[in-house]
Amino acid sequence: MAFASLGSGSKGNATLVRAGDACLLVDCGFSARELERRLALVQLDGPQLSGILVTHEHGDHIKGVWPLARRHKLPVYMTGGTAKVASAPADIDLHLITPQQNFQVGGVDVLPVAVPHDAREPVQFVFNYAGLKLGVLTDLGHISPHVLACYQQCDGLLVEANHDSVMLADGPYPYTLKQRVGGDWGHLNNTQTATLLSALEPRSLQRLLVGHISQQNNALSRVQEAIEPVAALVHQIKYASQDDCVDWLALE
Ligand SMILES: [Zn+2]
Ligand SMILES: [Zn+2]
Repeated sequence: MAFASLGSGSKGNATLVRAGDACLLVDCGFSARELERRLALVQLDGPQLSGILVTHEHGDHIKGVWPLARRHKLPVYMTGGTAKVASAPADIDLHLITPQQNFQVGGVDVLPVAVPHDAREPVQFVFNYAGLKLGVLTDLGHISPHVLACYQQCDGLLVEANHDSVMLADGPYPYTLKQRVGGDWGHLNNTQTATLLSALEPRSLQRLLVGHISQQNNALSRVQEAIEPVAALVHQIKYASQDDCVDWLALE
């Protein structure tokens, strides 16, 4: 199993998960055209995708989902709440998923995990394949006991470290947006991400990818300062960014 980031941040998120014959795209927060340009950077093209899994309806996750799915006739997996609020078009091969009910795509076991975030029915995903476990976990307002239970013992993890709370407080966002981002239904700050990582016992983690890092309210040095002390046992730590891809990280 391997994973890669095609870009991550408040202007667009897209993650790839490859296992066996399956190649899954988690979210498409870029235009279909931009997504295809980024796919080429990791030696893939649209027809090679097995399907699109959508976490929630925010634009930075769903922007290019319908055009991309239509262009390559890809199945799309999302919760009923997401499909409803995102006005799923009738011509899409739509598969409604239910939080806590795992499903299979191309031999990969996928568990949608309900998360606290200010969307209609948001989920994040845990993938299991051939004894390996990969977690994708962004857009999380706080660390719920449920999330902690579902993401234990991952071999690979994409986790968000959205903002530094001081930079958010001092930054340019209007008051209401600061409240939203920093609140219990917004995003994790660096300290919360570090707390989460220590609670997840990083001992089993081979590869950690940190993403959804705010360009306005965070700095790579602040993320590293918070996370690296609690992730000393992780073999490899990478940081995803808005503009660049992170090439395949392989789990074995
Ligand atoms: Zn987001
Ligand atoms: Zn969101």
